Amino acid sequence: MKPNPCLENIAPGYLFPEIAKRRNAYQAAHPDVRVISLGVGNTTEPLFGTIADGLVREAKALATADGYSGYQDEGREDLRKGISAAFYGGKFDADEIFISDGAKCDVGRLQLLFGRDVPVAVQDPAYPVYVDGSVLIGAGGAYVDGQGYAGITYLPCTPEGDFFPDLTKVRPGSLLYICSPNNPTGYVMTRAQLETLVSFANHNGCIILFDAAYAEFIRDAALPKTIFDIAGAETCAIEINSFSKPAGFTGVRLGWTVVPFGLAYDGGGSVNKAWSRVTATIFNGASNVAQAGGLAALSPEGLKEIRALTDYYLENAKRIKQTLEARGIWTIGGDNSPYIWARFPGRTSWDVFDELLNEYHIVTTPGSGFGPAGESFVRFSAFGHHADVEEACARLAK
Ligand code: PLP
Repeated sequence: MKPNPCLENIAPGYLFPEIAKRRNAYQAAHPDVRVISLGVGNTTEPLFGTIADGLVREAKALATADGYSGYQDEGREDLRKGISAAFYGGKFDADEIFISDGAKCDVGRLQLLFGRDVPVAVQDPAYPVYVDGSVLIGAGGAYVDGQGYAGITYLPCTPEGDFFPDLTKVRPGSLLYICSPNNPTGYVMTRAQLETLVSFANHNGCIILFDAAYAEFIRDAALPKTIFDIAGAETCAIEINSFSKPAGFTGVRLGWTVVPFGLAYDGGGSVNKAWSRVTATIFNGASNVAQAGGLAALSPEGLKEIRALTDYYLENAKRIKQTLEARGIWTIGGDNSPYIWARFPGRTSWDVFDELLNEYHIVTTPGSGFGPAGESFVRFSAFGHHADVEEACARLAK
């Protein structure tokens, strides 16, 4: 039997294995040095009480005759209603919200709605699953070394362009992946930028796949936390979101996707109905325990815990950003997101990565690993214990 040809098209996951290889080599040569990681997007802090209690209660209930539950395919209705109330002002019907086992999983599955012939456009730099998920389904074509995938339009998002893509490059009828607050740049799109996007998508038959996994880190009230704050988004956007980063659920696994009733294929077919069919076919629902935890996270106490947890990481972000800027390094992000994108003109990202590892014993993520426009940048992640971030910043300040 031969492998799926799409698997042969997908470029090997090079970034994080290469980081681990360099880190391990350094550690092996310097066993007494304590290397600190500011490199990954994994959460580090324990769950708070209300949310943890929600998980425990449900797990215990499953051991009782009254509390036992089995499949809950489309997700608990009270959770779907709760998400609509907590994050969208109650404007979505429970049937417009689909509970998932996380944002990444849904990003991977959503492409099934559009098949292999849809043109795809992604921000550059970007979270890798947008490209790889597209390639896995056959969209994107073959990988051309140094250029990316022939069938994918890369949209550089740079400081010079206010981190906004050049939409004239996007073909009509494209799937357009947008992430805000952005991983890796930490940039948050303004209301005016989102309005431009929505208007473009509506006029050009595009659908925006809007990844808002970091929305709860936004503190500036002028910055929209959801694409659905923008008039017209309900006819051109799908939003993917997650409890992973705001509630510390990276290991618990729970997310959601909003597919509005108003979103239609060319010819008028309902995308919401199609997504319902796809998820019923290949997904049997998120864990009942995780859903109970999510419901607890939406209670008034739970929402305070989300605020406290995101504040904790934002404090780290502020500390890292201030330290870098005090050294004259240009940065973006970190105010309304847990990532700081630092620029090192004239140098490669890997060169800076090596210097930070060898001289400061800090692991970061080379920006070039997220796409060609990430060259000369390095991503600092604020996911870490305060004490580690303090020590890393003390080293960086020297
Ligand atoms: N979307 C973005 C932009 C991310 O950075 C991540 C994780 O790092 C995810 C989605 C994955 O979220 P989940 O844990 O819900 O799969």
